[in-house]
Amino acid sequence: MADNIFAKIVRKEIPAKIVYEDERVLAFCDINAKAPVHILVVPKKDIARISEAGAADEPLLGHLLTVAAGIARQEGIDATGYRLVINKGAHAGESVARLHVHLLGGRQMNWPPG
Ligand code: 5GP
Repeated sequence: MADNIFAKIVRKEIPAKIVYEDERVLAFCDINAKAPVHILVVPKKDIARISEAGAADEPLLGHLLTVAAGIARQEGIDATGYRLVINKGAHAGESVARLHVHLLGGRQMNWPPG
């Protein structure tokens, strides 16, 4: 059983500001928000990172994205736009070994990302 911070949040062992939950995913506010809206969408299945997801996880991966889009509507940033980010590995700055999609919005994003 994974023992990282998001595993503990998914198991409700430590608190988080939860904005959405269903049987497959949990979404909560990032503790160090990089934008006015910064939400993390995490599968309840223990997948460390995108490179460890398999073909059988494809419906779950799709669900993560449609949930993120739904939360963006819920948060009122659909019209202005938003960015979805998955960090994998050191060069991307991955810091928690539990797959998560960042939903960032509420301000103008730069491109390319830093
Ligand atoms: P990564 O860099 O792995 O893509 O993203 C990890 C994210 O998790 C970071 O944006 C960081 O601010 C957030 N984070 C780290 N620890 C906690 C925590 O205990 N609670 C919440 N809500 N977010 C966290």
